[in-house]
Amino acid sequence: MSGCLHVVATPIGNLEDMTYRAVRILQDVDLIAAEDTRHSRRLLDHYGIRTALISYHEHNERERSEQLVARLEAGESLALISDAGTPGIADPGYRLVRRCHQAGIAVVAVPGPSALVAALSISGLPTDRFRFIGFLPPKSQARKNVLYDIKAETQTCVCYETPHRLLACLEDMVELLGGAREVAIARELTKTHEELFHGCVEEALHSFSERRVRGELVVLIGPAEQQKPQGTVRDALLRLRTETELNWKEIVKQVAKEYAVASRDVYRESLDLRHHDSATPDSER
Ligand code: SAM
Repeated sequence: MSGCLHVVATPIGNLEDMTYRAVRILQDVDLIAAEDTRHSRRLLDHYGIRTALISYHEHNERERSEQLVARLEAGESLALISDAGTPGIADPGYRLVRRCHQAGIAVVAVPGPSALVAALSISGLPTDRFRFIGFLPPKSQARKNVLYDIKAETQTCVCYETPHRLLACLEDMVELLGGAREVAIARELTKTHEELFHGCVEEALHSFSERRVRGELVVLIGPAEQQKPQGTVRDALLRLRTETELNWKEIVKQVAKEYAVASRDVYRESLDLRHHDSATPDSER
């Protein structure tokens, strides 16, 4: 029987955020794969966990995954942790999990803290749909390319950023997204100096340029304002009918979405035009 890989979340600052289940599983497994074994030893000591550790980080992920899969296949049970939060989320983990799936080894989530979800949950920005960008690129041009890509994004975007790059990042955001774009910045979540900034990019730039930025940060960018459609529903129906190859059903659906009105109302509005359409010879439609 193969063993099982447990992907275990650990605190992102506050040691009280470790779950009972995480402690029990980390105590029970044969081996814990950790990003930085010295850092994790200190964390595990706090909970009285004495399980052996082995390193698993971005520089040995591939070869270590093979070794760990071999141990799992031999029947050992393993846990994967990262320095903080949920493994695999802007942290190593994905390769090992994928190899386990390929080898038919069970992978179990032991959920808990993640800066991404913690920040999103208190940001005050829409949470129904969101886009996670991970770390923004350190170089300005690459960062601008990413920001350009999210300029028209209608979901909340969540990024990880370092304190020493925050101002440069906000300056690029003013340039690419405009100073009025809504933003939230969660700093030092779950720790003594936890802070949540909420406002527009221009205000964030002003606020953070007045002090030395320290600690860990999550930057959340609010959705782009959707452009209000021009003209009436009838204008839109006519425009799509003359300018596209869409059929009436597709046209009604698109206009209803664009104008955020019920499809049946748009359908009713389209009847008159359809009537005219059917009275027009094919060659003139
Ligand atoms: N896997 C982790 C998770 O699930 O949150 C993220 C690891 S990533 C290498 C570390 C980044 O997460 C930090 O640079 C920061 O952007 C963010 N982060 C981690 N802890 C945080 C905290 N307490 N407050 C704010 N951001 C944090």
